[in-house]
Amino acid sequence: MNWITNSVLPKIKALVQPREVPDNFWTKCSNCDEMVFHRQLEQNFQVCSHCDHHMGMDPDARLAMLFDDGQCTKIELPKQTVVDPLKFRDRKRYSDRLKEAQAKTGADDAIMIAHGDLGGMPAVAAVFSFAFMGGSMGVAVGDALLRAAELAVAQKAALIVFPSSGGARMQEGILSLMQMPRTVIATQIVKEADLPYFVVLTNPTTGGVTASFAMLGDIHLAEPGAIIGFAGKRVIEETIREKLPEGFQRAEYLLEHGMVDMVVRRHDLRATLIRLLGLINKPRPTAEVVTMVQPGLEIPAVDKSSSDAGADQPSKT
Ligand SMILES: [Zn+2]
Repeated sequence: MNWITNSVLPKIKALVQPREVPDNFWTKCSNCDEMVFHRQLEQNFQVCSHCDHHMGMDPDARLAMLFDDGQCTKIELPKQTVVDPLKFRDRKRYSDRLKEAQAKTGADDAIMIAHGDLGGMPAVAAVFSFAFMGGSMGVAVGDALLRAAELAVAQKAALIVFPSSGGARMQEGILSLMQMPRTVIATQIVKEADLPYFVVLTNPTTGGVTASFAMLGDIHLAEPGAIIGFAGKRVIEETIREKLPEGFQRAEYLLEHGMVDMVVRRHDLRATLIRLLGLINKPRPTAEVVTMVQPGLEIPAVDKSSSDAGADQPSKT
């Protein structure tokens, strides 16, 4: 690849044949409208090289990026016992929509659970797939999050959830809303076992997902520019009849207002998670604490007999 194919060609193509660009080679960035070559996008974790816009990411790619050497084990999720309880139909039957989404993504529902090592520490990850009916949360997603919490407890592992969801799945009615308290219980199971529960808020995290497990993490990380909120901006503006501030519901805005602890670029996400897990798992310094001698200050003698840690170290005093 040279600069002509990488940068000039897409611009000419965009001018001459805007509708004939094959989807599988070039992706148009929804933020800056530049064309990005798919292989470059893959290598750059689906982040636009022109404007740093974080595009949606497939759950498999996210798991590969997260775990040590890209190695993890996906777990089989419980088979859904309740399918289409309302016999819901809008333009299409819900049962048909489900089948379409399953065929398109190759997944049973909008979530994937896997476990593996993160910096040598055990972790369970629950990753949402926005491509599957907008990552909406129905009974299957609730079941999966409970399963993930139980797995984390069984393995004494951290639970890390990556929501990317429009909220509760309307086609399942009240049953999808009931997943809100169910997933809160899932987070509680992890917390009661004194295990870390992190949430990495990705674009978008809205509705019933924000109003339940996604805002209950011990630490909340967010990807740059991610929309995080309950109701959409337009709905709020129409209700309160006021213009909302610039950047409202974006990750950076939530960071400024204390709803998010860190906004982390995708490239730094794995290292940041490892650092945070390390701090939580090993709260004490790994090396012996050395007392600095300052002139004029009397340092009290350390009673060596009561310390096990220094037992096999040669005494210097
Ligand atoms: Zn861009």
